[in-house]
Amino acid sequence: MPGFEFIGNEEFAEVEEVFTKSKILFRHSFDNLRNGVCKVRDFEKRFAEYMGVADALAVTSGSAALRVGLAALGVGEGDEVITQSFTFVATVEAIIESGAQPVIAEVDETLNMNAADLESKITPKTKVIIAVHMLGTPANLPEILRVAEKHKIKVLEDTAWGCGGRLNDRHLGTMGDVGTFSFDFAKTMTTGEGGMVICKDPAVLEKAKAYHDHGHENNPKLPRWEDSRSGSGFNYRMMELQGAVGLAQLRKLDGVIKAQRENRDAIAKAVGSIPGVKFRKAPENSFDTADALVFFVQSHDAALKCRNELLKEKIGTKILPEAISWHFAGTWDHMPKLVARHGDLKKAFPKSAALLDRAVAIPILGKMEPSVPERVERALQKALHD
Ligand SMILES: *Cc1c(COP(=O)(O)O)cnc(C)c1O
Repeated sequence: MPGFEFIGNEEFAEVEEVFTKSKILFRHSFDNLRNGVCKVRDFEKRFAEYMGVADALAVTSGSAALRVGLAALGVGEGDEVITQSFTFVATVEAIIESGAQPVIAEVDETLNMNAADLESKITPKTKVIIAVHMLGTPANLPEILRVAEKHKIKVLEDTAWGCGGRLNDRHLGTMGDVGTFSFDFAKTMTTGEGGMVICKDPAVLEKAKAYHDHGHENNPKLPRWEDSRSGSGFNYRMMELQGAVGLAQLRKLDGVIKAQRENRDAIAKAVGSIPGVKFRKAPENSFDTADALVFFVQSHDAALKCRNELLKEKIGTKILPEAISWHFAGTWDHMPKLVARHGDLKKAFPKSAALLDRAVAIPILGKMEPSVPERVERALQKALHD
């Protein structure tokens, strides 16, 4: 889960510098008053270096990053965008906000997009595929990219949960045409609210930069108020205080992931041999961010029993089995476009429903009480075998 556990003096020092040295809270202009303090621009530069890419664009949220990424890829009315059944509502909301038709593919035992089902849902209108690294576990990108290439469709990686994760030694978010990240308060690194966009093609990133800033091209030959523009956009600009926090959090990211992975491994070791517990699968050569430990049990009733016994040990579950209604498209009958496309949503994604129904997710903290693994083991033994 959580960069928020590690917020401390480092973040404060970065924010303090904005107030003591510049007092400029806006990322653009005012360069004669800043005393060299450019937190958002520095954060973008450091983030791009971390990812091994040329450039990055900070925005106000992971949802904004998705919206800006879709705009940069030219998505609009009449287009279809395919994403997966198990994701946060924001992924589909961004597609709707762009004017496009959302289309949902099933997930498999990785709880990420099933490439075969993806391929069956491609039509001549499909413009972009949004693969999600759900809960920090890499999507099966080699397969998804193969399908996308065959049909000449762009891929956006929703890396909201996967920041710092890798697949085949490459950073999640850097393999598709666009990668988007979230720094909301529940993500592995946080700026309170915030997000980032990276793009394979520098021309696409330029479009993203303009779209996130009312179409501003930031033409160096013109003052900002006379700036050139080739299209309209909106305001998704990150502000300096968020950039300041992001700089400190980015320096902590690898340490947070290391702590989460160790804690996840300790719990997995304690429960791995319990009959009836089957861990979520991950693609080969995955380095996940260990945001949660997800496993399948035999039935929905068994999943509920696990939840109840875990609660008695003062351990919550995360998304699965509860809060599924924010994370499974099969429950989103408040979205008319989804219903129009897929009909009765309860029946529309049977393979995903059958898996999610009997899945349990234990949230992983960076700072874990040492007694947690044995408490989880006790709860699951009771739930599944007493
Ligand atoms: C958190 C999240 C988002 C949205 O990010 P915000 O910063 O909260 O707007 C998008 N997609 C997924 C998969 C997420 O988990």
